Amino acid sequence: MEQIQDPLNSSRFFRNTISLIESVAENVQLDPATLSTLKRPRRIISVSIPVRMDDGRLLIFEGHRVQHNQVLGPFKGGLRYHPTVHVGEVAALATLMTLKNSLLGLPLGGAKGGVCVDPNLMSFGEKERLTRRFTREIAPFIGHDKDIPAPDVGTDSQTMAWMLDTYSLDTGYSQTGVVTGKPVAIGGSKGRDSATGLGVVYNIIKALEKKKKEIDGATIAIQGFGKVGMHAAIEAYKLGGKVVAVSDVSGGIFNGDGIDIDELVKYNNANKTIEGFSGAKPISNEELLSLEVEVLAPCALEGVINKQNVEDIRAKIIVEGANGPVTNAANDRLHEKGTMIVPDVLANGGGVIVSYFEWVQDIVWLFWEENEVREKLKRIIFNCFDTVYTHAEEHNCDLRTAALSVSLLRLQTALELRGQTR
Ligand code: NAD
Repeated sequence: MEQIQDPLNSSRFFRNTISLIESVAENVQLDPATLSTLKRPRRIISVSIPVRMDDGRLLIFEGHRVQHNQVLGPFKGGLRYHPTVHVGEVAALATLMTLKNSLLGLPLGGAKGGVCVDPNLMSFGEKERLTRRFTREIAPFIGHDKDIPAPDVGTDSQTMAWMLDTYSLDTGYSQTGVVTGKPVAIGGSKGRDSATGLGVVYNIIKALEKKKKEIDGATIAIQGFGKVGMHAAIEAYKLGGKVVAVSDVSGGIFNGDGIDIDELVKYNNANKTIEGFSGAKPISNEELLSLEVEVLAPCALEGVINKQNVEDIRAKIIVEGANGPVTNAANDRLHEKGTMIVPDVLANGGGVIVSYFEWVQDIVWLFWEENEVREKLKRIIFNCFDTVYTHAEEHNCDLRTAALSVSLLRLQTALELRGQTR
């Protein structure tokens, strides 16, 4: 008989995500029903998206929205446009969103969307038509009380504006709460742009505090100078952090006395790269990762700290601004050597926290000033950091295991209370 392959398990990323959950579940003796529930998404919506291209051809793109779990609240997660999008990858990312939202204590479940397309090869009009048609296809399943998409790789605030408009036109009313990460002019939140980088810095402050140090004067190296890395550098610099090195795809720069981040931001805005900045000397991305600094914040790519370079890493604290920059094997080795690693699920949680604030503001039609957003973000990150740190101390484990344990146990409690475990 012909074997039917499970499309989720054909993805290595999905299998790895489930193995990670299984190993932490064993540590915390998670109830088997909770584990079984979390191993599969609640709903997968796969659609074909016909798009009329500028040259007159009609192309059909494949899109997915995976709704993983909603025991804590409506589904929430980004929408990605990328040529390698696969339903298994989207399901893995949706699963991770459930874990992240639970850890951060947000009243939200986990979801993710993806369209298999290269947005860099499309015109503005083609992207608009793609987004509007995809929104129509998934419209019965989204809404401020059902599932709330947000930008991710290859999508931005303009994508969210089109989604909001299409959904509102079809329902007949303005529905600003259907997406987050919108422009402020149409219901977005102040402070959303800097939220993930600021969250990274709040985690740096807490990690240093545990080592009886302050950010003022602390040496910091940041890989990546994009939405996360640049804002992390700006916020750390404002608080007196000595940002000695940063990098982007072109390579890194170093200044032992600390880089003038205000000047670097101006340079980067004008040149779209940090390469050639006169206030620091060039170094490679590999050199940046092995600098002897108090804090290393990899905010660019996954897997950059791995078996090959783990012995070269000299930072005392690593704060994972990017998703998955430290591999599991490197995490274990660094933990053994006494390095503190603040895991991505906590370290880059600032983005989804401010997305949650945006959703709340849209529901009540009352908008907050930026300082209010920043204060509320700080409170959530600080509390969450303390919870994870205490769990790690009590159970003698690393912060990644602690973060996932706290998250899984919260989900278990919610599932039990709703009668979904018996
Ligand atoms: P981005 O595209 O804005 O910036 C990426 C940065 O990394 C750029 O400066 C780019 O030049 C640099 N880069 C690319 N290749 C590199 C290389 N080989 N070596 C060094 N630098 C390189 O992306 P972003 O939004 O800042 O996201 C970065 C990471 O953070 C990703 O893992 C993303 O999933 C994660 N993340 C982002 C957010 C968010 O709110 N933007 C939230 C959570 C997690």
